[in-house]
Amino acid sequence: MKDETLCLHAGYHPKNSEPRVVPIVQSTTYVYDSTAEVASVFDEPTKSLIYSRFANPTVMAVEQKIAELEGGVGAMCTSSGQAANLLALLNICKAGDSFISTSQIYGGTVNLFAVTLKKLGIECITVSADDDDETIEKAFKPNTRAVFGETIANPALAVLDIERFANIAHKHGVPLIMDSTFATPVLCKPFDFGCDIITHSTTKYMDGHAVQGGGIIVDSGKFNWDNGKFPELTEPDESYHGIVYTETYGKAAYIIKARMQLMRDFGCYPAAHSAFLLNLGLETLAIRMPRYCENALAVAKYLQANENVESVSYPGLEGDKYYDLAQKYLKGASGVISFVIKGGREAAMKFMDSLELASNEVHVADIRTCVLHPASETHRQLTDEQLKAAGIEGGMIRFSVGLESIDDIIADIDKGFAALK
Ligand SMILES: *Cc1c(COP(=O)(O)O)cnc(C)c1O
Repeated sequence: MKDETLCLHAGYHPKNSEPRVVPIVQSTTYVYDSTAEVASVFDEPTKSLIYSRFANPTVMAVEQKIAELEGGVGAMCTSSGQAANLLALLNICKAGDSFISTSQIYGGTVNLFAVTLKKLGIECITVSADDDDETIEKAFKPNTRAVFGETIANPALAVLDIERFANIAHKHGVPLIMDSTFATPVLCKPFDFGCDIITHSTTKYMDGHAVQGGGIIVDSGKFNWDNGKFPELTEPDESYHGIVYTETYGKAAYIIKARMQLMRDFGCYPAAHSAFLLNLGLETLAIRMPRYCENALAVAKYLQANENVESVSYPGLEGDKYYDLAQKYLKGASGVISFVIKGGREAAMKFMDSLELASNEVHVADIRTCVLHPASETHRQLTDEQLKAAGIEGGMIRFSVGLESIDDIIADIDKGFAALK
């Protein structure tokens, strides 16, 4: 079925007299008739439910829906996007291993990779999404276990050349993991281009309404783990009575290990009520995404033509550095734009403070238009020199276009420009 239909129906199929809407199963635990039955669920945890630290029916309905939207064999929700990226890597990297990541990734992920994973003994090797094949291949070490990138990078708005990165990763016997938060499965299906594992911060477009945080990991089921590099999947797991994930679970080995081992031990599983709210957002995702793209393209063109604007970055805009890749991989370039206003930091702040409709907040990909000033907010600690090195100018504004009428959004932008006179 098509995305519009999956968004509404996948993951939950009520039978005779059951509730039409996916119920909130607000229970930490599940009851059995006998001790022997409980014991058998411990022997085969995928058979039934044990405890809501790692599986719950409301959350599982959402997992199934997103797995179907991405075309994967299975998925696991987490309590944040950060937790999704953490577990996606920990599932195949241990102390002494390394992985390769593009530098064009979310700031929170940079901290996770460069600081926290480093403390755990896992090295992140950085390349640019724009580097040539040779440079990327040189970055591999014998202990490299994955390649990581973002479909549409936050905030760089770089589009990953998925086929190129997948080919390089596979040549070295490791999977390509992609954070596809900004694209969502509605704008891009990375598994169709060779990506192996997808993560999302569901906090953004999937929820859409800014009411709860969450994340998800989706497994394509296509990667062959049995090449000697992933003993945690191909050799007995002592913490699970010697189970060998690839033997017992075949194509779903990666995602079942993530749940049975990592979620069991870390417990960063969302609450049923959060999954219920996420599901409401997902129901309209396929309808909302094209409108974000349409509004954002109109805003990008309007900004580009304005005398107060120095430059606009939006992969959907003809002439953008990533336009060709966006045409190849995306059905739309999402609602996030960044632009540089003439007059630097002062002009940017004046412009933003004069907006009435767009809210000034640290968020993106909301249903409502919002703005952020990287130089004085998310990257505040940097000097002007350091900002320049990081590719952030004082006059740069991140504009997350919402679903209001395009006329009202543009009228609001005009108020901002009028204040500069
Ligand atoms: C926001 C974001 C994250 C982190 O997600 P949280 O839900 O805030 O933990 C990860 N990746 C990308 C691309 C994001 O935009």
